[in-house]
Amino acid sequence: MTSNNIEYLDCDVIVVGSGGTGSQAVQAAAEEGLKVIVISKDPMSSSDTKICEGVITVREAGDNTDTEEVLSENIKLAGADLPDKNITVAFANDSKDAYDRLRVNGLRPSINKEKNKPKTLAIAMGGHNKSRSVGHKNSGVAFGHTNWDTIIKYKNVEYFEDCWFLEVVKEEIEGNKGKDIKVLGGIVYDAARGKILFINAPSVVIASGGLSSLYFPKTDTMRGNTGDSYALGIKAGADLLDMEQIQFLPFCLASPPSYEGLLAGEPSTASFLGVLRDKNNKVILDSVYLRTRAECSEAIMRAVEDGRGSPNGGAFLDMTKNISAPKSGKYFMKYLKSALPSAYNNARQALGKEAGKAEIPWEVRPSAHYSMGGIRVDEYTRVIHSAENQYEPIIIKGLFAAGQAMGGLFGANRLGSTSLTELAVFGYRAGKSAAKNANQSVKNKNYDIFHKHYFNFKNLFNKKGKLKPYKLKLDLQKKCWDNIGPARTEKKLKKMLTYLEKIEKDLNNVNVPKEMIWNQQFLDLIELKNMITTAKAIAIASLKREKSVGGHVRLDKKTSSLFSKPYSTLVKINKNNAFEAFKLLRQKTPLKRIINYKISEKFRFMKAKILRILPESISDKIIENKYKNILGTDQITIKPGSLDGAPGDKVNQI
Ligand SMILES: Cc1cc2nc3c(=O)[nH]c(=O)nc-3n(C[C@H](O)[C@H](O)[C@H](O)COP(=O)(O)OP(=O)(O)OC[C@H]3O[C@@H](n4cnc5c(N)ncnc54)[C@H](O)[C@@H]3O)c2cc1C
Repeated sequence: MTSNNIEYLDCDVIVVGSGGTGSQAVQAAAEEGLKVIVISKDPMSSSDTKICEGVITVREAGDNTDTEEVLSENIKLAGADLPDKNITVAFANDSKDAYDRLRVNGLRPSINKEKNKPKTLAIAMGGHNKSRSVGHKNSGVAFGHTNWDTIIKYKNVEYFEDCWFLEVVKEEIEGNKGKDIKVLGGIVYDAARGKILFINAPSVVIASGGLSSLYFPKTDTMRGNTGDSYALGIKAGADLLDMEQIQFLPFCLASPPSYEGLLAGEPSTASFLGVLRDKNNKVILDSVYLRTRAECSEAIMRAVEDGRGSPNGGAFLDMTKNISAPKSGKYFMKYLKSALPSAYNNARQALGKEAGKAEIPWEVRPSAHYSMGGIRVDEYTRVIHSAENQYEPIIIKGLFAAGQAMGGLFGANRLGSTSLTELAVFGYRAGKSAAKNANQSVKNKNYDIFHKHYFNFKNLFNKKGKLKPYKLKLDLQKKCWDNIGPARTEKKLKKMLTYLEKIEKDLNNVNVPKEMIWNQQFLDLIELKNMITTAKAIAIASLKREKSVGGHVRLDKKTSSLFSKPYSTLVKINKNNAFEAFKLLRQKTPLKRIINYKISEKFRFMKAKILRILPESISDKIIENKYKNILGTDQITIKPGSLDGAPGDKVNQI
């Protein structure tokens, strides 16, 4: 590595990541006429956003009673009151405008002609108290294309693919309450060209997605989710919030290996009569379609830990009653195929023809899907660090985080279809905040500090040790599932921390060649380091939880109750350079409102129960009418063999 390998660049705003969040941040900053550089390790716009199901929360898409307050409260209470209210309010306020912006950029929903509104899913997704989830033909690809079109349309935007953002460059000044941190730009490894980029910029937006690759192969996400966002954030001085709150999607595939981890359905997939069963055929969860993802995952993992799991460490989603009902049965297949078409196709291909017809139960297992915790931000996405040993928030000047990178919106549970809204709302807010900061800043012209930051990376090339970074990565992934996965105990968490100390030592004995062009071992090492940092934050945050709450089960703790005091966990690097966790008390929703919310939830569960216990002749008729209402009044004609659900079948789009 010589100084010839360094390229010096200059801009107003760097956006790290080209998924949904990144593209929205780019648009917001570019509209202000500023020079924007996008850095993406995946090809432009390839990301979780592009492989998603394409279902997005749009307030009032279902009915006009879906006010800002109703949506904000639904998000906060579904997240066990851990979410930051300022952030849930911003989410609810901007939800419609954010969606309209995506439509202007090219996204096309199906339209409900009667209401002249985007069509919502037939059954509200589990935990949503209103029907507001809007689907799209071609699922995530529709979003991927929209993002691509958004990024390329601005002349003042330059983009770099196959580039790994390595570190935020910053300067620190002792302030009154602790450190004042100011961003100066970032360092990037341009793998395809074998260059290091020193990019001078007063604003950096972290939009680099999640961490689910920590659990590979038990994940449905893109492989680049190596926790880079959180590692970049905490190293820049940011606090991390609720890092223990990983969302494990309950209904993913456990086999065959080529399908392992992929999404098979949502709680709403189970429809009115679907239940979860253990290996002894005992029902472990009913009214599945009304449940949150967290409730379903918990039921499965408790059965697995109890020795009642399915052969591949999951449980059985039994939808056979839906199909066997004499009148409503024929409607169910139409519903199943059209609700989440790509998830249905995964299940049909992986589990076979009978499963495709829902004649036999599906073996499902939770998969890591999304990080509900993340970088601490305010509602304008300004990144926050707390004053020394206090909780008083201090803004890091010039640093912004949004999308899956940020924390504070979802707390202990994310409702389905809300992440695409999150990225549209907060990606755009981040771009606007970054532009405002850039307009108010005097540009740094000195690259000395970049050289200092780069020193630690330069020394990672040409290492003569014996261990391969990719092998260490594989080992770490297994340990993550076992110890900081969906079922945890204090013992497992401590075991994980001891393991992380060991693997950190192993980093001194790795082998990395000196090549600059596509040095895969260097890339593996960088990602491994980010994964270690993120895993440590997850383990330390988990230990700070006193009750079992959220996306995973604490087998050794009581479940948190309605009366528990809500708090977020906060992890930061202290002045001794060690990770430390704190509790950040959250504003509790007034008890009266919680009780109202719970009563309406109970009412929905009671209706579901009545449906199950009524004589079949009556319940079948009621369900048939429900399907007619939600699927439209078109006649369902079943042609011979058409229930096979072969992949590629045309299904009615929602
Ligand atoms: C199978 C699946 C289905 C889903 N379905 C839905 C759905 O229907 N509705 C919904 O609301 N949500 C859904 N989600 C969740 C949602 O898609 C994601 O949470 C969301 O797209 C995340 O957006 P993002 O912009 O924050 O991250 P991403 O879209 O993942 O983008 C991250 C970007 O950062 C880049 N990057 C990462 N690290 C670096 C680095 N160090 N340097 C440079 N670049 C970097 C990546 O290359 C990528 O471009 C689904 C997710 C999956 C996996």
